[in-house]
Amino acid sequence: MDVDLRCVMCGRFNEDAGHLISKCKTVKKVWQELNLKVLRAKLEQQLSGKNALQTIYRSPEAEQMKAILCLWHWWRERNGVREGGKPRNPADLSYLIMSQAGELIRLNKEDPPVKIRGRVHWKRPAHDNLKINIDGAYRSITQGGWGFVIRDRSGAVIQARAGAAVHLMDAFHAEVLACAEAIRSASERGMSRIELETNSMMLRQALQDNSFNLSALGGVILEIKHEISMCFHSFCVNYCRRDCNK
Ligand SMILES: [Zn+2]
Repeated sequence: MDVDLRCVMCGRFNEDAGHLISKCKTVKKVWQELNLKVLRAKLEQQLSGKNALQTIYRSPEAEQMKAILCLWHWWRERNGVREGGKPRNPADLSYLIMSQAGELIRLNKEDPPVKIRGRVHWKRPAHDNLKINIDGAYRSITQGGWGFVIRDRSGAVIQARAGAAVHLMDAFHAEVLACAEAIRSASERGMSRIELETNSMMLRQALQDNSFNLSALGGVILEIKHEISMCFHSFCVNYCRRDCNK
């Protein structure tokens, strides 16, 4: 068989795991953006995958989380490029990695033991407001979906919609899509006082500040914000954990 051994990211010959995750000139930029140059240099010295993982596990928690997510995202990036996709900017990729690492670390710290958590119940919106609960689903690039429910203060359903979604990048993409569909429907129906509830801390963050403007979904997020500012008289977004599976 005539097998092409070149690295799909840089075109260099003889791609192996060590080259892909630590030595390739393209991945070095991502490690650098993540402020993990020292860890990357250590990984480059390791002679086996097991040693490389042990090196990562010996790092402080924040570095460890970023490094693990970096390996995962870089592997997906490489496979996407191999199938003809366009490589993402290292700054965008590292931004996504840092956001997800931050969210995972926060979730690990904020989650108290299940026994004292209790179930979360839907709460009524403030007077005259409508509450939108949204959720996205993601399993793979071909399996995903979105949904939302708009209710008034009495709990009556004003509108509910759901749909399938393909070509999603990740679970966050599904959440953003659910949000976009909900906001569009609410504005089309002339609703003006909205409370949005999501189980994605990243989405709440994305709607509250500009930290996701440079991410791959920055354009969609900006469109959502534009629609919110143009169509709603009042708007707030809250995080609410989804524990219907527990
Ligand atoms: Zn390479």
